[in-house]
Amino acid sequence: MSYFRATDPFPLEAPDFTKLSEFYVRLAQGRLSTTQCTGCGQSAWPPRGFCPECTGDAMTWIDLPAEGTVHAFTVQDTGLPAGFTGPRVFAIVKVGGHRVFTILLDADPARVTIGQRVRLTPLAVDPDPRGNPRWLPAFTPSA
Ligand SMILES: [Zn+2]
Repeated sequence: MSYFRATDPFPLEAPDFTKLSEFYVRLAQGRLSTTQCTGCGQSAWPPRGFCPECTGDAMTWIDLPAEGTVHAFTVQDTGLPAGFTGPRVFAIVKVGGHRVFTILLDADPARVTIGQRVRLTPLAVDPDPRGNPRWLPAFTPSA
C-alpha cells in the first residue's frame, strides 16, 4: 500500500531525516535500543539527542532486553486507520527500566493481562517515499 506523504502515519527513519536513525537500524536487526548519556550515565526512553538530566549531547547506544512485561494496555476495535485490521492491542511495556508505548501483535485482547511477559517483535511497515524499509517496535506474548 502506498500513501500520500501527508497521510503517511510512520516516522521517517533514514539518516537524512533523523539523527536517531541508528535506533531503526538496530530495530531492523531485532534489537530494541535507546540512548545513554556518556556524561552522567542516564539512559532515557525514547532515544534522545541530548540528555534530559545534564543537557549533555554525547550519547551512546545501548540495547534493552528483548523481553518485558505489560504495564498497561487498551484495545482499539473501531476507527482504525486505513490499512490496519482490528482489534489492535496497544500497551505500555516495561522493559529495561523504561516504559515503552507499543502494540501487541498476535495477542487475543481477552487474554492480555497486566504483568504478562512479552517479547520484542519488530514490525515492518510501509517503506518511506524513497523505498527505504521502516520498522516499528512491537511485542508479542511470550510462549
Ligand atoms: Zn547526562
